Amino acid sequence: MQKYEEKDQKLIGEAVIEEVLNKNNFKDFKTKLHNKNSKCCYRTNKTTTIKLNKKEAKEESAESLIVAAHEASHALNYREGITNAKLIKFTEISSRSILLFMLTASAILSFYNWQYSWLVLILLITSFFSITKFYFKYYIYDETKTEERALEEIRSVWGKLQTDIKFEEVEERNKARLEKTY
Ligand SMILES: [Zn+2]
Repeated sequence: MQKYEEKDQKLIGEAVIEEVLNKNNFKDFKTKLHNKNSKCCYRTNKTTTIKLNKKEAKEESAESLIVAAHEASHALNYREGITNAKLIKFTEISSRSILLFMLTASAILSFYNWQYSWLVLILLITSFFSITKFYFKYYIYDETKTEERALEEIRSVWGKLQTDIKFEEVEERNKARLEKTY
C-alpha cells in the first residue's frame, strides 16, 4: 500500500486531522510540524493550529495516529464547549501568578515583621492550593474527554486512511494512554 509520505508529502497524522475535522465540518484550521509536544491551539472564529511533534509524526505508528486524532478532538471539544480551553489557560496562569505573589509577599512580610503576616500567608497558600487543584482536575477531565473522543473520531474515518497499521493497535494505544496518563 502506498504511504502518505511517498505519495504527496502529507503525513498520516495530517491526513487523520484533515479527515476528522472535515467530517465534523470544522473548516478553519491548519496543521504544522514542530519540535515540541503535539498540541492544539484553538481559536474561536479564527484559524485553529494543530501542531504535531515532527519526530513522532514522521513515524507512521499507532501512537502517531491516535495523537493526531487526539489533537483534532481537542479542537472539536473546544468548539462544542464540551471542555473550555480558556478556562484551562486562565486557571493555569492564575495558579502561577498566585505562587509568584505568595513568594513576593512572604519576602516583604518577613522583612517588615508585621503581626498579621501569617494570616495573609495562610490566605495565599489556601487560594494557591485550591486553584491549582482545580486546574489539575480540569486538565485531566479535558484530556480524558479528548482521548475518549479521539478513538471514536478515528474509527469513523478509518476507511479513508491508507495505512498498514491495524485498528486494534490504535485501540490498544488509546487504552494504554488513558490508563497511563489519567
Ligand atoms: Zn491533549
